Amino acid sequence: MAVVGFDVGFQNCCIAVVKSGGIETASNEFTDRCTPAVVSFNAKNRTIGNAAKNQMITNTASTVSHFKRLHGRLFQDHSVQAEKASLPYDLVPLNDGKVGVKIPSFFTDSERKSVLDAAKIAGLNCLKLMNDSTAVALNYGIYKEGLPGCDENPKIVAFVDMGHSALQVSVCAFNKGKLKVLSTAFDPYLGGKDFDQKLVEYFCAEFKSKYKMDVKSKARAMLRLTQECEKLKKLMSSNSTDILLNIECFMDDKDVCGKMNRAKFEELCADLIERVMVPLMTAVEQAQVRLQDISAVEIVGGATRIPAVKAQISKFFKRDVSTTLNADEAVARGCALQCA
Ligand code: ATP
Ligand code: MG
Repeated sequence: MAVVGFDVGFQNCCIAVVKSGGIETASNEFTDRCTPAVVSFNAKNRTIGNAAKNQMITNTASTVSHFKRLHGRLFQDHSVQAEKASLPYDLVPLNDGKVGVKIPSFFTDSERKSVLDAAKIAGLNCLKLMNDSTAVALNYGIYKEGLPGCDENPKIVAFVDMGHSALQVSVCAFNKGKLKVLSTAFDPYLGGKDFDQKLVEYFCAEFKSKYKMDVKSKARAMLRLTQECEKLKKLMSSNSTDILLNIECFMDDKDVCGKMNRAKFEELCADLIERVMVPLMTAVEQAQVRLQDISAVEIVGGATRIPAVKAQISKFFKRDVSTTLNADEAVARGCALQCA
């Protein structure tokens, strides 16, 4: 029987498999190791992953993405209501008050249970559901050499995971063969998508004054702009010069263009970058360790590639951050290890 670990992300999913020689990350049909967390429904069938993501523009109302925050919640839940406006598909209350998506949907039970149901639907026997931070720490501890013995002072490591939707921080104590999670802290509403959103707002305002376009009135145009802004954000992680944003036939067959650079982006996102500090402070405080007791800060999650986010984490801990773990695969690998 094969043991596999899943990272079910807000934007991407990743699967790690235990093989006799160690842990391997599975690749999908496009040989990508991360698969978009998207499901698209047609009259007869459903598609998932890359194929579904490709349908976001053409089959907007029946392509469900960014649904991790909706699982098993009540329709009236404030976070569901807050999310509703930015989703291109419709949410509806189910008979039991939980939130549903208005197409064939299977999100009908509480958060954990709905993931377990999904596993069952896929024909999988779920051995254990883990939270992301524990999985990352476990993955680190198993491979790290030279950890202190059980009778010595532990090695204290902080883990910071910023994904598409959320920021999670944990402080852990390691001895050989032993892992203790000292504290965890979150900002469940601070992730890469919030940075994308800042760019979207900026270009919506610019296109309004430059082209008299009301981008927000068209769901499809908003989606395209959001996708382009995410690409732009990623490009800005490796380039500090001006980067152009061109979208052809954007609205009413008109092309649009704009530009952005890293310095301006950081100005737009100053409040988000500031907020990164809060869970970092909480995690360190709750772990009851001093900054100088922390011997490494490991970052994972795609959004920690934003230079200003990385710099903020480094500034808080007063040290360089390490990227020992694979930013995209650390969670899934930890899950696989847990059950190996
Ligand atoms: P979550 O952990 O919040 O549930 P997730 O696990 O799906 O979400 P990740 O796959 O860790 O999220 O990260 C995705 C985010 O990282 C997206 O916002 C993506 O745009 C961002 N990202 C990926 N690469 C880069 C890059 N080079 N520069 C900036 N952002 C990036
Ligand atoms: Mg994640």
